[in-house]
Amino acid sequence: MKTIIEPFKIKSVEPIHFTTREQRIEILKQAGYNPFMIHADDVLIDLLTDSGTSAMSSKQWAGIMDGDESYAGSKSFYRFEEAVKKITGMKFIIPTHQGRAAEKILFTITGGKGKYFPNNTHFDTTRANVEFTGAEAIDLLVEVGKHPEIRADFKGNMDIAELRKFIIKTGKENIPLCMITVTNNSGGGQPVSMQNIKETKSVCDEYNIPLFIDACRFAENAYFIKMREPGYENKTVLAIAQEMFSYADGVTMSAKKDALVNIGGFLALNNEELAMKCRNLLIVTEGFSTYGGLAGRDLEAVAQGLEEIVDEHYLQYRIRSIEYLGEKLVAAGVPIIEPPGGHAIYIDAKRFAPQIPQEQFPGQSIVSALFIEGGIRGVEIGSLMFGKYDSYGKLIPPPMELVRLAVPRRVYTQSHIDFVLEIIIEVFKKRSTLKGYKIVYEAPMLRHFTARFEEIG
Ligand SMILES: *Cc1c(COP(=O)(O)O)cnc(C)c1O
Repeated sequence: MKTIIEPFKIKSVEPIHFTTREQRIEILKQAGYNPFMIHADDVLIDLLTDSGTSAMSSKQWAGIMDGDESYAGSKSFYRFEEAVKKITGMKFIIPTHQGRAAEKILFTITGGKGKYFPNNTHFDTTRANVEFTGAEAIDLLVEVGKHPEIRADFKGNMDIAELRKFIIKTGKENIPLCMITVTNNSGGGQPVSMQNIKETKSVCDEYNIPLFIDACRFAENAYFIKMREPGYENKTVLAIAQEMFSYADGVTMSAKKDALVNIGGFLALNNEELAMKCRNLLIVTEGFSTYGGLAGRDLEAVAQGLEEIVDEHYLQYRIRSIEYLGEKLVAAGVPIIEPPGGHAIYIDAKRFAPQIPQEQFPGQSIVSALFIEGGIRGVEIGSLMFGKYDSYGKLIPPPMELVRLAVPRRVYTQSHIDFVLEIIIEVFKKRSTLKGYKIVYEAPMLRHFTARFEEIG
């Protein structure tokens, strides 16, 4: 087997900024130890997110020039609509400025107090948009997905038995829709099998509950199906994606992930009445239905990106570069979610820094150390992002404490990845010196974006 190479050559470059360790210590302190508060110019390798950070292709940039900025009926909208329809097969395509805008519209219409939305795992914005309406967001991930150390092919699957139990207990009339997130971002970017999507759909059908796919990383998921699920090895990724969506009644997507753009999203639906309601709300909050908060050029870039994302040379390189980083980390003894998912490495902070209790945010401590050691920016996905308080103000921690290192698409090369590896291993060697953190400021919702910390001890 030959080296899997980046399936592109570089046409335009952007310098990255080097800092000293002393500078980074000061930068982090100024940022309240919150990576979201660090100026991006002070980051050497930015693995904060794979969202909106993709490098666009020359054809996407050409599309930007070619974008039609007509307020209504722009040709860029029709190209976008066709691209989304080709992949999802949905009848009604509604552009939005990003994924959460699609969620906001969908849950404003379907949510409200007394309503419940099951999902394999809600992403943070999905959960926030559900809860904002007074409804409840329920995660029903398969057990194996909650154990970072267990290797399995489809750790993003919905727990079908639990879903059925949940529907019976809650009453189908209180469940406006069921969602399945591919890949499961909050649970380690783990894929969902076709079998599981089918079974979820058949349970939903029994109770007449529509199934929605949160499709942010549909192409990465489809590639895992091709690699791992018997019967799919000879199908194209496009055909696999089309089959995945054939079991859905609706789709929300942040185009900032698998559409390879810097901004954009959509809501795609089969139900005309729901589509009408969503469009009406779109016009109030986002814009007219043929641009939905985007510029015509953005719609062009999404349409082109959706064509490029199903390229199997790209997906092979994409999935392999994450797998490579994962293999080397495991060989060095660093605890991560195994096997790695499609877009990121997730360090298991509980095993990495067992001396730090969950209420002192072990993940946040590792995030700080990676920045100080090598100017690498990652993000905590654990008690900070998903922790709740009980009535005594005591933390209710989520099942996993993770640090996510998300790899932007087509941005970094092999040597960047090798450098990241060296820094993580360096921090791992010093792990016994890591200290806990306490929150000194937090917002009532999505607190991880703005919280400020102090080191303990
Ligand atoms: C990013 C993401 C969203 C939200 O999309 P934005 O474009 O950031 O608003 C929703 N669900 C999942 C799984 C995501 O990864």
